[in-house]
Amino acid sequence: MPELPEVENIRRTLRPHLLGRGIADVQIYLDRIIKWPSAKDFSAGIAGGVINDVSRRGKYLLVSLASQKLLVAHMRLTGALIASGPGDAPPYARVRFSLSDGNCLWYTDVRTLGALYLLGAGENVIKGLRELGPEPIDGQLTAACFAQIMKKRSAAVKGVLLDQSAIAGVGNIYADEALALAGVMPSRKASDLSPEEAERLREALIGVIGQGIANRGTSFRDYKDGDGKKGDNQNYLLVYGRRGQPCLKCGAPLAYARVAGRGTTYCPRCQK
Ligand SMILES: [Zn+2]
Repeated sequence: MPELPEVENIRRTLRPHLLGRGIADVQIYLDRIIKWPSAKDFSAGIAGGVINDVSRRGKYLLVSLASQKLLVAHMRLTGALIASGPGDAPPYARVRFSLSDGNCLWYTDVRTLGALYLLGAGENVIKGLRELGPEPIDGQLTAACFAQIMKKRSAAVKGVLLDQSAIAGVGNIYADEALALAGVMPSRKASDLSPEEAERLREALIGVIGQGIANRGTSFRDYKDGDGKKGDNQNYLLVYGRRGQPCLKCGAPLAYARVAGRGTTYCPRCQK
């Protein structure tokens, strides 16, 4: 699933293809990808629009139109937005946006669990977007803010990192990586972390997300950026996807357990 660094790279790679372009036409091949409004109103509301900005909040990609409408994409497991020339549809194409310069923006999705929305000015029907916590980058997640989030919650610390209403944009990969880098056991109660541990975890989280962005995202399975290219961050992971392999710090075999309902890889020796 694209997490914050992957969606940020989709944003950065799509932006030069989209900024200032008009959307001449929208072709929907699978209606249920459109969650709001109806597929018909979605197409009608976008066609003729001009793209003003491409931004991101958490794992949501936001395309602002001059009409004040906002196109929102939530990729979930296998969704992707890919800019291309006017040629044939890529595999698993679900929506085609035909641009005024003759090129296309495609929404593709293998598992079809992703979602597209078109919001009017000031309209926000997306509960997950409305209730997002602070961004870990952009300076929003200060030491005081992070300490407060941890102190208030008795759930497993990994579950808190994954809770989009606590902190925006973190998924399974970057949660496992941050906990490994900070040396914190994923199943620890968030409220039991010492102030030093919480601060180490905050810095680790900001670090692994920054590294993920710099390496153009983690392509463990399906992830591709707006140009259809894979990222490199899968080559730099400490624990995610390395179950049973030696810990890069101490050499002990990495353990695997379910924490907060998610598969979790960690070092039983380095993480306390
Ligand atoms: Zn270790």
